[in-house]
Amino acid sequence: MHTGVVSQRSDLRPNRIAVLSVHTSPLAQPGTGDAGGMNVYVLQTAIELARRGTEVEIFTRATSSNDEPLVEAAPGVLVRHVQAGPFEGLDKHDLPTQLCPFAAEVLRTEARNLPGHYDLIHSHYWLSGQVGWLTRDRWRVPMVHTAHTLAAVKNAYLAEGDTPEPAAREIGEKQIVAEADRLIANTAEEARQLVELYGADPDRIDVVLPGADLTRYRPGDKAAARAEFGLSPHERIVAFIGRIQPLKAPDVLVRAAARMLAEEATLSRPPARPLRVLIVGGPSGSGLERPDALIELASALGISDRVTFLPPQPPNRLAQVYRAADLVAVPSYNESFGLVAIEAQASGTPVLAADVGGLGTAVRDNVTGLLVPGHDTDDWAIALRRLLNDPAGLDAMSLAAVEHAANFSWAHTADGMLDSYAAALSQSRAGHPLAGSLHSDSNFARSQVRSAGSPRALLAGVEPARRRRTGAVRR
Ligand code: UDP
Repeated sequence: MHTGVVSQRSDLRPNRIAVLSVHTSPLAQPGTGDAGGMNVYVLQTAIELARRGTEVEIFTRATSSNDEPLVEAAPGVLVRHVQAGPFEGLDKHDLPTQLCPFAAEVLRTEARNLPGHYDLIHSHYWLSGQVGWLTRDRWRVPMVHTAHTLAAVKNAYLAEGDTPEPAAREIGEKQIVAEADRLIANTAEEARQLVELYGADPDRIDVVLPGADLTRYRPGDKAAARAEFGLSPHERIVAFIGRIQPLKAPDVLVRAAARMLAEEATLSRPPARPLRVLIVGGPSGSGLERPDALIELASALGISDRVTFLPPQPPNRLAQVYRAADLVAVPSYNESFGLVAIEAQASGTPVLAADVGGLGTAVRDNVTGLLVPGHDTDDWAIALRRLLNDPAGLDAMSLAAVEHAANFSWAHTADGMLDSYAAALSQSRAGHPLAGSLHSDSNFARSQVRSAGSPRALLAGVEPARRRRTGAVRR
């Protein structure tokens, strides 16, 4: 397993890569449905890779007739909306049936260019990994895969009554682990899970920490941020931000807040600043089965007037949500990393998180927030009280949080990815069974294509010369 920085040899830096994100578009609003941290990750790392000279073409399934086939998301970053199945009516669990049409479209897109159009494939999530492995074989370029979440891990940490991930997903993930040239894990713990639960080869895993947009998420005027959302300057505010589903456990926060409020109601001198829970996001995954569950829970616990719900917020508004809060809670049953925890800290807001998965890396226990083992309501109420009733302690954590979050930038993540790509290309040159002599072919072809094949040229309809055998995939 590789956690250090390998120097990126410039001759091993890909000029153009195909990024596969089958089930969710990097252009979608995160925080609801299937759109979350992975969308942010794919887009932000693509932007940073393009800044470093690697063009990125992201393939994602079109889910609306309004999705343009080709969108320039940023300089050097194209999003290709692939038509595979109907726009509406398919959820994530139906998508394995659409991997064939998706793969066919990806292959056809590549076949419209000279050989060697893409130097490498990076697939995100297991659905994309299935397509990635096929395209890798056809194009004879290395495939790097990031799982983002793993079925075996999700199922081991399931919330009570939540639906487990299907066995077929775990089978698919095992195939990808066996097939990918390299795996990128978010944390050392995820790397360990890949080895122990999926039999991955530790020498083919690179640990690359995710990041946050540190220019957007930074401390600011709390009172102004609260005013923007009509929130009182006189309340203690704890926020939950993200996709609302049992795995993310916003109910743990609501129950703990109800417990804390009940205890405070019995005090002869209740705290002067009342408690408010702010929930930002929309239903997702198994949470879609009962989209009003959290509203009903707050009502059943008698704290509806203490809970404010906001729909998913775009990044600029979200930065203000982080600033408005005194504390951000991340009570998830599992997180492969937890971008919200880093964004909150970068904005100067300490984090109260469950001590699971990547959150142990994202939060420094007792320094930038608190990590709670388990999800017991009493434990969470105690932790909430300890943090929210100690303004001086929270101020100190806020300063430490900004310092800690400064270690996580997308620029750093992209550098780690390029190191992983360099390792994959070097492996491939050194005689990967599928690589053969194709790299020299692709370098030759690339030199011919580059001038016509820039994203701008493609958008303008100036597709590079069509290969001789149009419509057919080479080899
Ligand atoms: N997010 C957003 N608007 C919202 C809620 C969330 O843009 O209203 C984004 C947030 O900035 C973060 C991502 O969604 O980058 C959630 O990522 P995280 O890793 O915390 O959770 P995931 O969705 O991957 O489970």
